[in-house]
Amino acid sequence: MSATELVAFVCCDLGSIVRGRSFPTSELGRRLETGVGWVPANHSLTPLGPLAAHDPFGSTGDLRLLGDSDTHVRVEGEPGEMPLEFVLCDIADTDGRAWECCPRQFLRDALAELEGELGLRLVASFEHEFQLMLDEPPAPPFSLEAQRAGEPFAAEAIGALIEAGVQPELMMPEFADHQFEIPVEPAEGIAAADRSIVLREVVREVARRHGIRASFAPLLDPSGPGNGVHIHLSLIDADGRPALYDAARPACLSELGGRFAAGILLHAGALSAITAPSPPSASRLAPHRWSAGAVCLARQNREALLRIPPLLGLADAEPAPQMRLEYRAADATANPHLALAAIVRAGIDGVRSELPQPPILDRDPSQLDAAEAAHYGVGALPSSLEEALQALALNDTVRGWFSPLLYEAYSGLKRAEFEAMAALHPSDVCTRYAAVY
Ligand code: GLU
Ligand code: MG
Repeated sequence: MSATELVAFVCCDLGSIVRGRSFPTSELGRRLETGVGWVPANHSLTPLGPLAAHDPFGSTGDLRLLGDSDTHVRVEGEPGEMPLEFVLCDIADTDGRAWECCPRQFLRDALAELEGELGLRLVASFEHEFQLMLDEPPAPPFSLEAQRAGEPFAAEAIGALIEAGVQPELMMPEFADHQFEIPVEPAEGIAAADRSIVLREVVREVARRHGIRASFAPLLDPSGPGNGVHIHLSLIDADGRPALYDAARPACLSELGGRFAAGILLHAGALSAITAPSPPSASRLAPHRWSAGAVCLARQNREALLRIPPLLGLADAEPAPQMRLEYRAADATANPHLALAAIVRAGIDGVRSELPQPPILDRDPSQLDAAEAAHYGVGALPSSLEEALQALALNDTVRGWFSPLLYEAYSGLKRAEFEAMAALHPSDVCTRYAAVY
């Protein structure tokens, strides 16, 4: 008997679990035309296993996973090891029309609005942190020893990501135990969110080949530093000119960029139900974890929800193309397409409503007194998933970006997650999620 190489058609679901079906690689050409079957109720599967009690789909209906050949990933294995091969898919009705709950379509619609209404395109990158689940004592944070202790995994992960087309920039040992961060080159539109999914699956695969689990869960230890996903956003016009930069304005943020940022801050509570949407997520976002301790805009400040990273003056680098906003309140339990779409729509709303640029905070937000906090417009993020879902339920604008069916499925799924975890100790919640993400 000989083994047959398989390729998987996969989608990233509402809980950011990558699910799908595999078939012999020799069938790929035909399958790119017809897809593989899929079931609506799969969108109500909780990351914890069971189907959510509030499942609007039930037992009926049929869908197709239609592969997007631009996202074809193949990472070769060692001799005798099966390659990792998959294609990211849109979820469509059986006649090929987009399904109203497809996350990639949700992002496509948001990007079409950005282009149609503001004449702008999005360039973005997702910066992921993760931890290797190892028993041995960790090396010091950021140390060369930590980097070397991560070998050969670290070099192989970068090699596999290059092979998968993700364009990794760095492999950085981070602050938490056995934690690494991999920033990647920005990509336009939907490809940026696709890269986030590919990165996680490829890193997990390389770790798995070494018998190690790589966890992207937001928090492994309730009192420790978390694994963030920082989403870097820039906007370009039809001719590719950067739209966020204006040297004459505070922090060089253009008027449009200021309004865009203000929209994100305005909707931050509801957004967190989409970008940091699991029971352990909110604890990562507490102050002094250098995640996103407060809802504010700041320059080069790691406690802000929205950070303006530095503009380098080295090697004749132009400042305008470097200008970006870094949204820090996301984690890997968020579906990247939903998260990016929600952030973009919040930004569009800020521009549409002509919101003024928020003040740029120049210090630790937790050190402000009440009057200063009011002046800087500094607020708190929801302190639990339940609170975040309430903020979403009460925010007609953000809720309105979902079709009624998608909202029902999404809120039902998330409700099921917090209900399942309600009686558990925070460290058990972290352990449960570390086993999944
Ligand atoms: N680990 C931090 C987080 O949870 C981020 C630290 C940093 O890279 O600034 O977001
Ligand atoms: Mg980091």
